Amino acid sequence: MKTLIKILLFVFLTVLTQIGGIVYLVSLIISRKWNKNLKFKTLIIFIGLYLFSTLLIVPLIAPVFGREKVNHSEKIKPTNYMTVLLNRNYVRPKLNELLSQTEKELNGTKIEIHYLDANFPFINKFPLLPHLSHNDGKKIDISLIYETNNGVITDKQQSVSGYGVFENPKPNEYNQIEKCLKNGYFQYDYPKYITFGKINKELEFSNKGTKRLIKSILKNRNLEKIFIEPHLKSRMKLNDNRIRYHGCRAVRHDDHIHIQLK
Ligand SMILES: [Zn+2]
Repeated sequence: MKTLIKILLFVFLTVLTQIGGIVYLVSLIISRKWNKNLKFKTLIIFIGLYLFSTLLIVPLIAPVFGREKVNHSEKIKPTNYMTVLLNRNYVRPKLNELLSQTEKELNGTKIEIHYLDANFPFINKFPLLPHLSHNDGKKIDISLIYETNNGVITDKQQSVSGYGVFENPKPNEYNQIEKCLKNGYFQYDYPKYITFGKINKELEFSNKGTKRLIKSILKNRNLEKIFIEPHLKSRMKLNDNRIRYHGCRAVRHDDHIHIQLK
């Protein structure tokens, strides 16, 4: 029974953070060899070792695998710092260039780039669940832009995790979500379970802000495509052919924008 729990914990930590499972194994070994009677000994070792690896060691090794951390700046920040603590903030250098180019395009506006899940630091094809394709350093999710009811753009979000608060189709808009759910793709709106809390309910989706953000992203030559739900694409009157629909097997994209490199 104890072994089963350990295996499950190993798998869970690996899926969540990539390095967590291995750090857990090392913590178990150290804990056994360290002859000290301490409450929560393994847990304390794990937390220390995990933070040390995540903040200092992993950033040094990731470039061997062609990846680096997303560079933070005045306008480029994680929506939730957990993304960084869970090692879900690694990209190819070209994606950092794309983000910084986009930041320059946004100069003089109040629009900021708040990023969500990107990729893990190591190994191509190692999936960053629950995403289908974030496994090669070329993908990153970006938060939508919101505004106050006076139309002032803010840097605030409506979901704690950054996922799962949807900008639903209006009654007169095309409803892809209903279509996918009716066709049995029940996972399509699962992100609603991972908001970790809804905040800033007084804010509204910013049509002009999100449109400007997407237009700035589209200026990049290294961009392959953007995923966003069809009703938002037509609401923002965007018609660039690099803005695509991702299909019903993914999850709905009216809570965030997905972008990927060529
Ligand atoms: Zn994505």
